[in-house]
Amino acid sequence: LLTYVILCQVLGASGDLAKKKTYPALFGIFRNGFLPEGTRIIGYARTQLDLANFHERITGHMKTPNDEIKKQLSDFLKLCTYVSGQYDKDEDYQRLNKAVEKVESLNEHEKKNRVFYMALPPSVFIPVAKGLKKNVYSTKGINRLIVEKPFGMDLDSSRELGKALAPLWKEEETYRIDHYLGKEMVKNLLIIRFANVFFGAIWNRQSIANVQITFKEKIGTEGRGGYFDEFGIIRDVMQNHLLQMLSIAAMERPVSLSAEDVRDEKVRVLRCIPPVKLEDTLLGQYTKSEDNSKPGYLEDKTVPAGSTCPTFAACTLWINNDRWEGVPFILKCGKALNEQKAEIRVQFQDVPGSIFKNASRNELVIRVQPNEAVYMKMTNKLPGLSMDTVISELDLTYNRRFSDLKIPDAYESLILDVLKGDHSNFVRDDELDAAWKIFTPILHKIDNEKIEPQPYAYGTRGPPGVEEFVSKYGFKRDTQEYNWPERQC
Ligand code: NAP
Ligand code: NAP
Repeated sequence: LLTYVILCQVLGASGDLAKKKTYPALFGIFRNGFLPEGTRIIGYARTQLDLANFHERITGHMKTPNDEIKKQLSDFLKLCTYVSGQYDKDEDYQRLNKAVEKVESLNEHEKKNRVFYMALPPSVFIPVAKGLKKNVYSTKGINRLIVEKPFGMDLDSSRELGKALAPLWKEEETYRIDHYLGKEMVKNLLIIRFANVFFGAIWNRQSIANVQITFKEKIGTEGRGGYFDEFGIIRDVMQNHLLQMLSIAAMERPVSLSAEDVRDEKVRVLRCIPPVKLEDTLLGQYTKSEDNSKPGYLEDKTVPAGSTCPTFAACTLWINNDRWEGVPFILKCGKALNEQKAEIRVQFQDVPGSIFKNASRNELVIRVQPNEAVYMKMTNKLPGLSMDTVISELDLTYNRRFSDLKIPDAYESLILDVLKGDHSNFVRDDELDAAWKIFTPILHKIDNEKIEPQPYAYGTRGPPGVEEFVSKYGFKRDTQEYNWPERQC
């Protein structure tokens, strides 16, 4: 970790992300003793706020259950100041720079490192990146720029954004956040795969029948459909978060854990995936709930009338390499579904020439959220005098096994990586390009041809065609009933 002063500047500090994620994560890093000595945090946005109002705003999502944490919060807030200014005025950035220099002058260390966090809508990314480079860039230390999704709408717009940023900020200074890469279980995937000899041996098309990567949300757009409708569920979740999980699940073993070695392998596997085809896609849009208590997508007043924007999508991706040829990777995501979860479900092949009737397939499930867990569904003998079989599990439920340990929030872990200068869990420019190449043709087809999504009721598992869709790619639901004895977790 850098031991000299870091100025972390949150641009868009008055906004939702800053309040919900950025500042709580910085507080988490501070509380755990990882914020380098001398660090100061300056918020910048157009809204006029005095310090007390600003502090009130950024602490709205921070929990202070006891006096010790209250005291830590009060110490943390002493590091947090605020400057208001426009995003397109040099003189305002120069005022910000003055505030930065003033704080830096309090620290005698020669190096003046600056981290810039753009918690801003994409419409202002470029003017802000320019204004910062021109007026606030440190000439006496390291500069790092954190950029939030969306990184464009398709391949061309992503390249445009890249072209505009590249002359200003070098790739090694840029940190593109995909917060799924900061999640504990996504990081664990690398270890599960490459630190366990038995998985190494079966992680291929000879043993694996299909892989499902699923993200389900219980809520709909709930009055925030305007933003969502421009993007749709594929851009919002699948092209980034689900594809990132896929790339770690499918990549070859990196030469080392260094950022570039890991990212080289992720790019290599993405480049083996041809663009998604319409016949490998199922789209859905939610309607009101069966009991009429929840409104349909088109009833959200912020959604344009008659929108065909998908709120559910399932896409099957194919990886043309010798490890995965013929193994479907089914990505599924949706809003207003029956449950909230994100998981990777690896389903193994049937036992060849099995001597047991009705044996179910083995599955390895990595549950990313909620209640992080890794479990392997396997067949055992039903205790008793017969040779009947039963599905049970090898189960690692995190909060039982690691009950004394706190799983860090993804943003905490990622901001700490930026402070350390570790790029492993950030999206590289060529990785982004490869991801857009996979999804851009289908996205253009959906947008241009206004492909009609299948309706599904709010609170259900998705469009009625979803079961047929997954079984078309060989997914077999358990042939015997599987009961997981729910314990406290
Ligand atoms: P936001 O609240 O809409 O915007 C952040 C701040 O930017 C606002 O407080 C506002 O500050 C300024 N702003 C808003 N609209 C603007 C406009 N049209 N022109 C210029 N300035 C404008 O956005 P956010 O939810 O914090 O999200 C920030 C970024 O993070 C976005 O790229 C978003 O996609 C991404 N993100 C957000 C979340 C989340 O949970 N919110 C999650 C993942 C990614 P002033 O008016 O004071 O300048
Ligand atoms: P599951 O929730 O039963 O889902 C298994 C698969 O069947 C998923 O692909 C799911 O699709 C699909 N499915 C679910 N309901 C269906 C329906 N009515 N019709 C057709 N397909 C359906 O998961 P499971 O792995 O067998 O586990 C059963 C329960 O035990 C789950 O609630 C799980 O969280 C719990 N469990 C927890 C732990 C733990 O915390 N350590 C360990 C083992 C099991 P979708 O993904 O699209 O829903």
